[in-house]
Amino acid sequence: MISRDISIPLMLEIGEGLIDRLSSVLLSYSLSFQKALILYDEITYAVAGKRVCRVLSSDSQVFELLVEGNTTDSVSSVRREIRSRLPDVVVGVGGGTVLDVGKYAASLENVNFLSVPTVASNDGISSPIAVIKSEGRSLSLGAKMPLGVIADLKVIRNAPRRMIRAGVGDLVSNLSAIEDWKLAFREGKDRFDNFAALLAEAGAEAVFNFAQPDLGDLNFLSRLINGLVLSGVSMGIAGSSRPCSGGEHEISHSLDRVASKPALHGEQVALGTILTTYFRGEDFRPLKDFLSSIGLPLTADSLGLSPQELVQAIVDAPQTRPGRYTILEKIGVDEEKAKEALIETGICIGF
Ligand SMILES: [Zn+2]
Repeated sequence: MISRDISIPLMLEIGEGLIDRLSSVLLSYSLSFQKALILYDEITYAVAGKRVCRVLSSDSQVFELLVEGNTTDSVSSVRREIRSRLPDVVVGVGGGTVLDVGKYAASLENVNFLSVPTVASNDGISSPIAVIKSEGRSLSLGAKMPLGVIADLKVIRNAPRRMIRAGVGDLVSNLSAIEDWKLAFREGKDRFDNFAALLAEAGAEAVFNFAQPDLGDLNFLSRLINGLVLSGVSMGIAGSSRPCSGGEHEISHSLDRVASKPALHGEQVALGTILTTYFRGEDFRPLKDFLSSIGLPLTADSLGLSPQELVQAIVDAPQTRPGRYTILEKIGVDEEKAKEALIETGICIGF
């Protein structure tokens, strides 16, 4: 029989107070570990890392390591620690950086990786892709799917609101990424995978269609985390970031290069999603209204970006992902079109 196997995390737990019950949560999946390597940064140690270490130390030998950035040096130091301590699980406690470094290093060393997000600011919490900086450039590298995701809402609810808003931006951008993917398929530039698209779209729509979204509402936060996890699974099925990354992500990657002070990834892709929707000739207002109801900053000024940086980033965006075909590649955005889009969408008021 012909079928395919897909990789998904063994466990997904979203709830309040999960960290304090971490050992019993793991046991409910018949998991216990002899040696655990816990990764955190200075902030995530205080909000959750310290407790994760304490809770796991009752059943396992615990080693700890502070991750200082998502650089190749950080990956090397985690790999050295794995080789010397030989843990049977690496637990990443944190946001993008700690999780990216942890899942990539654990993947290279063939060790289980458990994701304990402290924020829900992007879809890296369960994706098989790690963003690592090398020689000043951000690389999206393949990693294994995490063993599990334990999202403690008590911790995530208290994360800075700006981070949660950014997570909504990253998730909703799937809707634009899928339009770009369909476009590439129609024009014979890419293959398309219905299952991957369906998951990425379902995750985004569950948040986009939420009646009266409220960042402090646990139901809304659960949907956000579910959606980000589904995004990760969809990337695993597609074998690339394609279901969650189109022209709007190219604009964000380009801003990371061009802007003197880039905003958060999710904030930039939210802005990118408004622009790509405009470039497609569709009505961007319902999307803009939703993103603004969440409180996402949607003007150059409020994001701390100059109009010139934005124009440059849009024009250069296709260079960030050579080979990826999106609405930007199709219409060929020059400076004039970029300026017009920025004015029409209300992102800039002049140049
Ligand atoms: Zn993203």
